[in-house]
This record gives sequence, structure tokens and C-alpha cells, in this order.
Amino acid sequence: MNSLETSIRECTACVLSQTRNCTVPGEGSPQARILFVGEGPGADEDREGRPFVGRAGTLLDEALGQAGLDREDVFITNIVKCRPPGNRNPSVEEMEACVHFLETQRVAIQPKLIVTLGKIPAEFLLGRRVYVTRENSHLDFMKDGTAVMTVLHPAYVLRNQRQEIRDDFFAAIQMAREIALPLKG
Ligand code: URA
Repeated sequence: MNSLETSIRECTACVLSQTRNCTVPGEGSPQARILFVGEGPGADEDREGRPFVGRAGTLLDEALGQAGLDREDVFITNIVKCRPPGNRNPSVEEMEACVHFLETQRVAIQPKLIVTLGKIPAEFLLGRRVYVTRENSHLDFMKDGTAVMTVLHPAYVLRNQRQEIRDDFFAAIQMAREIALPLKG
């Protein structure tokens, strides 16, 4: 375990530390060109200590696969590293207490593109309202110039069950790959 993972595991900066089972630092390539940022761990992730391992994660894996990527090519994490109980949204205070870990990851990885999954990380990182269904696959920039693509959350795609929404999600991941990675071969 590296020192960042140890710091996350020992963190008690917000109330989420009181109810978590596992911390979920994130995983993937330390040289990833795309950094995926979700909302926060759910029940499956809290149990396993890994990001996006439930049904939403299976859909994300499928979309990555269709874009010619797998988890080892990218880095996947969340805006908060501990599960909000009952899968509620993380509060602004919890995100503020946690975001320095994401910042450390971003500085170490130096991705070309951050892909936010869902409204919560998009609004927090961009500091504005995000209408994510309308802004799926839109590019924006953080105050420091980091490129951010706002993408639907895979759990929303699963809940919605419309083929069109699923296609939009898959197309956004494909577009992220085309922006951030030179084509192979
Ligand atoms: N949803 C998220 O936002 N993150 C996960 O790790 C799993 C589900």
C-alpha cells in the first residue's frame, strides 16, 4: 500500500469515516491519460475497497471495452473515498474534506482529461450547475485549466433503461478516449 492509500485509510476528517467498512482510494494506471471521478463508493465498493465494482461498474467496464480500453489503461476513483451511508450524495463539507486526496492523485497522474461520472463530481470540480443529461460528453475546464468531460453516471443509464441514453453514455466514453489517447496501431 502506498502512502496516499495509508493516509486515506487512516483519515477521520469527516463523518463518513465513522460508518465505512473499507476506504476506496481508486485504482488503475499511475500514468493514465484519463482520470474517471465518480460520486462516492456504494455498498459493493465499501465491501471490497475498489471503485465501481457493482452493476454501474460493470456498465463502465463495458463502455471502456467498447472504446478499446480496460481498467489498467485509465484511473478510476471518486470525489469522496468513503461510502455515504444509504448511498446518499456526499455533502459539500465531505467533498471539501476529501478533495485533497483527489488533487494529490491528479498531480501524480497528470491525466490529459478528467471524466466526471454524474452531476455531483462535475458540479464540485467545475464550481457551477451542471445539467448532466444535456451536457453529456461536453468539455469544460477547471479554474487551473484541467480539461473535464461531463458524462452521465452509469447508474443513471441503468435506471433509465433507454437505448438512446445507453448509446449516449457509450459514445461519451469513446469520445473521451479519442480526446485523451492516440489511436492504437
Ligand atoms: N458509484 C460511484 O459513483 N462510485 C463508485 O465507486 C461506485 C458507484
